[in-house]
This record gives sequence, structure tokens and C-alpha cells, in this order.
Amino acid sequence: MAADALCRLTLRAAADGLRAGQFTSVDLTQALLDRIQALDARVGAYLTVTADRALAQAQAADQRRAAGQDGPLLGLPLAIKDVLTTQGVPTTCASRMLEGFVPPYDATAVARLNAAGAVMLGKTNMDEFAMGSSNEHSAVKPVRNPWNLAKAPGGSSGGSAAAVAADECLAALGSDTGGSVRQPAALCGCVGLKPTYGRISRYGLIAFASSLDQIGVLTKDVPDAALLLHVLAGRDPRDSTSANVPVPDYPAGLDRGVDGLRVGVAPQYFGAGLHPDVERCVRQAIDALQTAGAVQRPVSLPHTKYALPVYYVIAPSEASANLARYNGVKYGRSDPQATDVDEMMSRVRAQGFGSEVKRRIMLGTYALSSGYYDAYYLKAQQVRTLIKNDFETAFQDVDIIAAPTAPAPAFDLGAKLDDPVAMYRSDVMTLPASLAGLPCLSIPCGFVDDLPVGLQLIAPPFAERRLLQAARAYERARGTLAAPVRQVDVP
Ligand code: GLN
Repeated sequence: MAADALCRLTLRAAADGLRAGQFTSVDLTQALLDRIQALDARVGAYLTVTADRALAQAQAADQRRAAGQDGPLLGLPLAIKDVLTTQGVPTTCASRMLEGFVPPYDATAVARLNAAGAVMLGKTNMDEFAMGSSNEHSAVKPVRNPWNLAKAPGGSSGGSAAAVAADECLAALGSDTGGSVRQPAALCGCVGLKPTYGRISRYGLIAFASSLDQIGVLTKDVPDAALLLHVLAGRDPRDSTSANVPVPDYPAGLDRGVDGLRVGVAPQYFGAGLHPDVERCVRQAIDALQTAGAVQRPVSLPHTKYALPVYYVIAPSEASANLARYNGVKYGRSDPQATDVDEMMSRVRAQGFGSEVKRRIMLGTYALSSGYYDAYYLKAQQVRTLIKNDFETAFQDVDIIAAPTAPAPAFDLGAKLDDPVAMYRSDVMTLPASLAGLPCLSIPCGFVDDLPVGLQLIAPPFAERRLLQAARAYERARGTLAAPVRQVDVP
């Protein structure tokens, strides 16, 4: 099989090829490493490429296979967002603060991939500490959207989404606090799944906002997302917030269809600010689900309009607490010239954090400070409960909710850099489900101005199976989208 064709495979197709002996994991891994070498200077998806290690893992996978062993991901090359710790491999969160940090342990999600036989190609670029919606807040370099290199890939998992979209890996891990898997998936045209809060262990996921953070997957199609979720999900004694809820066989029964499935459509997701052509694509997608047997039902989520302000109080508050640990002592950046602790801390933090991270720390510290806590953090938590209750009420009448993932297709690099609120607004569609802790995903549903558009599906807690079945039904009804030429393929 030609190298480019290998790079385009889904996880399942690659696994079939490996099992049938059509190619080896070393062939596949080498093809992807060559493609990264050829393209990534233009895309910027990777912060670290672990070529030698990847080839060694691939070789080991091939040997295991030759010895008659198999595994759900045996020999399949993936990319890992640089927010997840990887033993012996630099992990920086795209921040100068963690420059030089080499973790002594693997995140549980990474350990599970390893145990399933996966090959790690490298660590992907992101917004610093996962704060951002365009990947431009990376302290290292921006990521470019493979469809149009002048556009942002979304964020904060922009590197993972771009790597999948540019066929620089078969699939990738990301993290989603307020939309960081779904929004870049929408803007880059891949599938992005954020499971229920607690579904995947966060041990080794560098913390941003602990009541929201969740690991997610970026893949080329829905069955690949189901396959990865099945490997990753489950209770982990090392993360007390990981849920002790049985893990169903997500890949099984994926093609069950949507006969009779009640799909909720909320007017709050279709209001002002939504690009009319994005709305058209999303409504067509919902109609396609209906043609496949689902029924559309109107629902109302009246507190959705508060999701943006609520999120931008809660997430920075939790971030300000989580980021207090970067004091120049334990990991990453230090300052040997500092003469006392105060000087050390202020110098390291002044030099180590970028401006968006500093903005969040200041916002959060303010919102948590004495006298303001009740007015901001507590109030935001109360409104968060109302947002959650809206979903609970809606899910009494419907099985799933459909909405756009992002209000518009990918925007120009630089367009929102000087306007934080405009940047924050690109998460307006993904934040409500995050605040409610719900499983949700984005799936490509069309192109506008030659750029991908995402349909977002949201399900009740731990209904990932239903979510994936509905997404798969749509994917089959949709068929292969008529796609323009990716700019990354034009020499
Ligand atoms: N873009 C949002 C933010 O900047 C969400 C980020 C995320 O999900 N990690 O906070």
C-alpha cells in the first residue's frame, strides 16, 4: 500500500491490514513519521516527535503479532496532546513554565493506550495549559488548519485535531474543559468525542479547571472514537473523580440505528451570532437523522445564555488555584539567580506564563478573593446548577440534543488575538454541555467556504453508547462528504 494511503487509514482499517499481514506496524509508523517530516513544518501540529521510540514500539508490536498476540490497538500509531504526562518524554503544555519537564510517570490514559499496544508518534501542540480556542496561545508556535493554512485549527487541542485532519496520525488524544476537543474537531473536520465528566481517568492530565477537565479523542470516524473510548474508559484508583460506572462495549452495536430516537433541538443554539451557512449544514444533518428514523422535538435550555460568563468565572477560578503549584521549585522552570522564595516565584511566574494564562490567573484570583467569592464564584456555581437542570429537564423528553459545535467555520489566524471576548465566544456552543458534565461529540456535517463544519450531539450522563450510535447513524446517512482539496496537500 502506498505511504499516503497508509496515513489515511482509520484505526480499524489499519488494524485489519495489520492482522491480514498487508503491512507491518513499522511500515505504517514509518509512513506517518515521513509524512510528519514532510508536512509538519507547515502545520505545526507536533511539539515533540518521538520517532525512535515510535519505531521501537512498532517493532515490538510486530513481534508480538508474529508471536500470535493481538490487542485492540496493537501497532496503531497515535498522537498525544502535550497536556498528558508521558514517562521519559517531555511534557510541556506548550508553556515555557514546563520547559524541560520530563515526567517520571505515564498518565493513566497513556498507560492504557500502551497496554492496548498503541504506538506513540509524539506530543501535540496546544494552547498554553489548554487555555484558548485557536492554538495561538501556544508558547512554542501556532498550529495551522490543514484545510486552509491561513486559518486557525481551533483550540486548545488544535495540534491533535490538525494532526488527525492532515493524516499525520491515525487518531489523537485531546482534553476538553470547555470545548477543546469538539471545537477544533469541528474546525478541522474530524470526529471529536468528550465523554462524561469522570468517564476517563484524569491521572496525569495536567490540571486546568478540575471540575470540568476531561480527556477526549479525535478520530477520522465514529467507530474509531468508540474503539478508543473502550480502551480508555473506566474507574482508576489513582483518580478519585473517575466514575465507578460499568464500561459498556462501545464498539458493539454501533450500527443499531436511530429508529424512534428523539432528537432535541433547542432554539438557544440557533440564535444570533450563528453563521447562516453553518446553521443550514447543521439543520440538514438533523434532517438526515430524521430521514434515518429519528424524530425531532423542540426543547428549551433557557439558562444556556449564561454558560459563557459562568464558565469564564469558574474555569479561571479553578485555574488560578491549580496553577499556584508552578513556583519554580518542583517542576519545570526555575531561576537560580533568585535570592529568596518571593523573588523566585514572581520571576519564574512572570517569565514562565504567557499573557492569556496570566489573564486567567488574575481573573480567577479576583473572583475567589474575599468579598468577591459570593458575588462571582458562588453565584456562577449556582447558575451552573440551573444550566445542568435545564439539560435534565430536556432529557426527560428527548434522548439526545443536536446543535452546532461552533458558531462559524475556522477564522483567520490573528483575527481574535487582540479581542479575548471574541475568542471566548467561539466556545459558546460547547460550554453548556461542559458545565453540565455531559458526554458530547462533534462530527463533520458539511463545508462552508471550503472549511469544515461540525454537528454537535449531546447525551445524558454516561449515555456514550447512545451518543456514538446516533453519531454513527448520521455518519452513515451522510456518507462521504464532498470535500475541497486540503491546502496542506498542495505542494
Ligand atoms: N477555549 C476554552 C478556554 O479557553 C476551552 C478550553 C478547553 O476546553 N481546554 O478556556
